[in-house]
Amino acid sequence: MINLPDRREAWLSIALMVFSTTLFMLGSMTVSHIAIKQILAKEAREQAESFRTYLIASTDALNDFLAGKPPTTRTTSFLANTPRVGSLYRYKLYSADGQARFVSDELDFGAVTYGMLELPGKKGTAWTEQSEPLIETRFAGKLDGPEVFSAVYLPLVIGDALAGTLVAFIDQTDTRSHHSDQIREVCLKIGGLSALVFVFPLLAVLWQVRLRRQADQRIAHMARFDSLTGLMNRAEFSVRIEQLFASDEAFAVHLVDLDKFKEVNDFRGHGVGDLLLREVATRLKAVTGGIAHVARLGGDEFAILHAIRGASSLDPGIIASDIVEQLGQHFYLDGYDVQIGGSVGTALSMTDGATIEDLLRAADTALYAAKNSGRSRAVAFLPAMNEARLARLALETHLRDSVARKAFNLHFQPIYFASSGHLEGFEALLRLSWPDGKPIAPIEFIPIAEDMGLIEDIGQWVIKEACAAACQWPGHMKVSVNISALQFRNGNLPELVSTLVSEAGLAKDRLCIELTEGILMENSEKVISQLRAIRSQGVTIALDDFGTGYSSLSYLSCFPLDRLKIDKSLTHDLATPASKAREIAKAIIGLGHVLNLAVTVEGVETLEQHAILQQLGCDHVQGYLMGRPMPVIDVAAVIARDLAKRMNAACAIFERAAAAE
Ligand code: C2E
Ligand code: CA
Ligand code: CA
Repeated sequence: MINLPDRREAWLSIALMVFSTTLFMLGSMTVSHIAIKQILAKEAREQAESFRTYLIASTDALNDFLAGKPPTTRTTSFLANTPRVGSLYRYKLYSADGQARFVSDELDFGAVTYGMLELPGKKGTAWTEQSEPLIETRFAGKLDGPEVFSAVYLPLVIGDALAGTLVAFIDQTDTRSHHSDQIREVCLKIGGLSALVFVFPLLAVLWQVRLRRQADQRIAHMARFDSLTGLMNRAEFSVRIEQLFASDEAFAVHLVDLDKFKEVNDFRGHGVGDLLLREVATRLKAVTGGIAHVARLGGDEFAILHAIRGASSLDPGIIASDIVEQLGQHFYLDGYDVQIGGSVGTALSMTDGATIEDLLRAADTALYAAKNSGRSRAVAFLPAMNEARLARLALETHLRDSVARKAFNLHFQPIYFASSGHLEGFEALLRLSWPDGKPIAPIEFIPIAEDMGLIEDIGQWVIKEACAAACQWPGHMKVSVNISALQFRNGNLPELVSTLVSEAGLAKDRLCIELTEGILMENSEKVISQLRAIRSQGVTIALDDFGTGYSSLSYLSCFPLDRLKIDKSLTHDLATPASKAREIAKAIIGLGHVLNLAVTVEGVETLEQHAILQQLGCDHVQGYLMGRPMPVIDVAAVIARDLAKRMNAACAIFERAAAAE
């Protein structure tokens, strides 16, 4: 296609094409006129020449008559009876010296009334027996004559000498109209052809101009709006917030961050991720009733600007909580039931920022606070939050640094068989401290490590260290590690586990991985297939923190699991008479056993809780009562105590058997 720089040039091309088409048509008309003239001349000459032959053959002593003598009887008879032949409607005869001798429609023999011969365009030139015929064609004849005629001047040669001149007038009205029809037809065809040659390219140019204009409009739109959601983009958002700021109008800015967008993208695929973003955009617009500016700043970050005074104002508190409420609802996307949630940070132009940068930083700080306080929350900015924000930044820096320096540590918490009281193994728990030695709770730094994309590296380190430690323990003892949902993202967890356990030299059935319900809630094939592959290696899979969250029974039957770990919040209330914790624990233990799952109870802190759990028939117990998480160095003493206990038990059996004998 032709590529034109602008519309002006397109119009210039169109004008040029119209001009050249017109020129082409005029040219073809001129050529056709010349062609007709030539055809008429040729035909007139042929007719005149055949009449000349006929005349000479049909008369006697024509040269004498032309020279001035009276005509013979035969010549007179011919001339009198042949005033015209076919389209030859008139002829004149002249003597060799140019005197008019005869005019056919006058029948006036010998009278010299018509003057001298005048050859057309040949004044002063010699007219001899060798002269070529002269032809003069007229297209607008006299009133009494034909419309189109040719006068043909022919030398009359008798006996090798020029005897005179014949001027034959041929009526060519019909011939001209016949040829004109043919030429018109040709012209029409040429016109049609020129339409093909010029008009279609012309249409193509117009179409090109139209497409170009549409593309320009699209590009202009894309520069300001997000192509996926149709919301304004970051650049347009900056323009709007500057306008609002300059207008001195009181307004609120909300920053919105989706809580589990990454997981949806990773586990459901980008198609579902895109659908989710579109649906979020629709809900945000609906919440603000079309009177706010809603923008997608990038990824899963959105922003909303709205007035808080005047006719089209909104209440920032209500808007923020409505957003959280809306994003907490289920999304039904491409056959999937997806639940995410969103966090909102709000700042107000009058109080929270002297500049646009300050205002946006305040909203961002509030958003951080919302995410830190458990997500799916709306938080309005408070000056004290700046400290929290700085603290988070410090933690992020420290985490990045700790991953680089491998400055993490593992503690091990013992897990015991509930009935025998023997040591079953240990759960590996991640530890990190500030440079001054102050510990940082995993519940505080792990979600941030997940946000920062560091958890895969950290998780890999945990498996490696835990397996290395377990290699030093007796062969019947297991080690459990906690796995984050994001570790399933790449799809290579089974290979990774296999490699790390093999490299450490640990038997695969001595490793147990603990997952939380959140991972299973994704219910994706990607997670299930990885769990199956891990389990097929002999590794045990435990569902952690059961009894909190949804505690969906369907997970227990659908997923490849070996163990259930009842959460410490349920254990805490076990001995409280008014609570139903005991009944619930009993039901879960019974259910676990029906499904062939071993049940571990976490958070056992008192002898009373321990006694109840033994009575309920749980398989393993874990908690401060039996042992707190401890550095690897202290594990040896716990194992030694357990071995001594087993030894004593074995001795007692042996002694009882001996006494019985
Ligand atoms: P979790 O997997 O449920 O781990 C058990 C938590 O309960 C540990 O907290 C442990 O110290 C604590 N605990 C054990 N016995 C008792 C008790 O009798 N009473 C009370 N009140 N607490 C008890 P910790 O070490 O602070 O870990 C917190 C959470 O951090 C863990 O919960 C786990 O979800 C996560 N976490 C720890 N290490 C890792 C890790 O290596 N990777 C991942 N992804 N998460 C980890
Ligand atoms: Ca755990
Ligand atoms: Ca747990």
